[in-house]
Amino acid sequence: MSSPPGRPLTFINAQMRGGIASLRIAGSQIAAVGKAPKRGDLIVDLQGDRLLPGLINAHDHLQLNSLPALRFGGQYHHAREWIADVDAHRRADPAFEASVAVAREERLVVGGLKNLLSGVTTVAHHDRLYPSLSNPNYPIQVVQRYGWSHSLYIDGDAGVRRSYRSTPVDWPWIIHAAEGLDQEAADEVQRLDELGCLRPNTLIVHGVALDRRQRERLSAAGAGLIWCPSSNLCLFGRTAQTGDLIALGRVALGTDSRLSGARDLLEELRVAGTVPGLDEATLESLVTGHSARLLHLEDRGALKVGTRADILILPAGLPLARATRADVRLVLLNGAVRYGDRHYAELMARASDWADVRVDGRAKILGSSVIALLGNARAGEPGLELPDALGRAA
Ligand SMILES: [Zn+2]
Repeated sequence: MSSPPGRPLTFINAQMRGGIASLRIAGSQIAAVGKAPKRGDLIVDLQGDRLLPGLINAHDHLQLNSLPALRFGGQYHHAREWIADVDAHRRADPAFEASVAVAREERLVVGGLKNLLSGVTTVAHHDRLYPSLSNPNYPIQVVQRYGWSHSLYIDGDAGVRRSYRSTPVDWPWIIHAAEGLDQEAADEVQRLDELGCLRPNTLIVHGVALDRRQRERLSAAGAGLIWCPSSNLCLFGRTAQTGDLIALGRVALGTDSRLSGARDLLEELRVAGTVPGLDEATLESLVTGHSARLLHLEDRGALKVGTRADILILPAGLPLARATRADVRLVLLNGAVRYGDRHYAELMARASDWADVRVDGRAKILGSSVIALLGNARAGEPGLELPDALGRAA
């Protein structure tokens, strides 16, 4: 894996909220903000490039991202209709079935890579915490402490209540709900409330059917909403009304899987950015500070002393909603170089820690640990070119 730099480093001339500043990293943590470099630091001049916390994707199904996107052209009334269509498609389409048959471990690598290339350093995975998702060499960090249920319509009242009750109150508990336009979808939040499952650690994914009164109830309960507009627009032709909850800091942005969602979190931000009134600072909060708080991740999502050195660097002046993964100049995960431009990798990491690749036609570097994971995977990532045979890229 890429190693953290052997000595502390200070980024200077970084564009951060509030202006040009410096940021010091020691080991895997942010050690200072706005202070001059210390003697002996490696100094990396960003020349005005944007420096942000690594992004947090609040909803994904990491094992489903190498499957072909499914666009049936239908508009659904409830997510259960979509799931029935996916099941029918799976039985009828050998190519899709073959992509499902690829080993889950290989598909999980693609899910991690999808997120890393878009500047994401932490993902809330909605499924079991498979062992490889706790491996430090996995491309990104996965939230480790969470409870989850798929939904009321899959798990049933008793299963949902059991899931909620078995989740510690200081862990987030996450469930798909109100994912649709019909009465069933509209009733789900009230059902969760009646089951005792609408509490401060509850995070509802989607919420398309929520009306104003229900959003007020969600807010009064101290709960939050994970918003996945691309997936909602794909399935229902509309998305959740989120303005009031965003203003209260109760919304995090997620991609969902590529089956129904955007290619990655940067594309999701582009879709979110089309909602009137969402400025750059608000969009950033949906994938950093607000997301970290809702997911009970106190050690990330902000550029503060003592938080993890999970860092995203974008070109000077580039808004999140206009950035693509080929624009990403650097991703640091716990202080280690994972993805970005050769210019920064050469300054900050050993040559053995990364290798040249191309992403969407642009020259980039990728951490050696990630390339090693890709070495045996049959499930590839469209748009990623390794310079040599897989596994010999370095
Ligand atoms: Zn989902």
